[in-house]
Amino acid sequence: DGTTVILDENGTKRALTRIAHEILERNKGVSDLVLVGIRTGGVHIARELALRLEEIEGESVAVGEVDITLYRDDIKGHASHLPVGKTDIPFSLEGKKVVLVDDVLYTGRTIRAAMDAVMDHGRPDSIQLAVLIDRGHRELPIRADFVGRNVPTSQKEIIQVQFNDESRPVDVLLQK
Ligand code: 5GP
Ligand code: MG
Repeated sequence: DGTTVILDENGTKRALTRIAHEILERNKGVSDLVLVGIRTGGVHIARELALRLEEIEGESVAVGEVDITLYRDDIKGHASHLPVGKTDIPFSLEGKKVVLVDDVLYTGRTIRAAMDAVMDHGRPDSIQLAVLIDRGHRELPIRADFVGRNVPTSQKEIIQVQFNDESRPVDVLLQK
């Protein structure tokens, strides 16, 4: 029926490897660089990027996590700015270059909220954004610095990012 393969497993791996190289080129290495993944898919993608950055540079890269479910400003009315979801950034962001990581970028509301969460946690020098898939339909002036694949979608279509039992990304499908 209406399911097409956007990236197979090797395609996903190559896209992530390319993004890792782009992050290194932009930031001239990994010093002062940290990754913050957005739960849950973005955390898995952030871990993949960290593995590659570490392999290429021979230095470890910290990975934090934010859960912005209730930060989303379209959950109107109550508690929209309370960090109710678990945020786990067990290191200082002072003076760091933060790369936010998510699996799919859509309206941009999740990223806006994630930036709030990061700013609440510390004072980074800069925030960049890496996503595996940009499916369009932005409702805020937000763009990704690093994109695995741009996938024009209708609002009804859904991107499926498949993860295996070890939470490693395999293929990416477009579901009509
Ligand atoms: P936004 O806040 O930009 O509207 O939506 C982005 C967030 O919703 C991301 O955390 C992403 O995981 C999820 N999301 C939005 N659209 C899709 C989609 O088509 N597929 C998947 N897997 N996640 C999506
Ligand atoms: Mg998500």
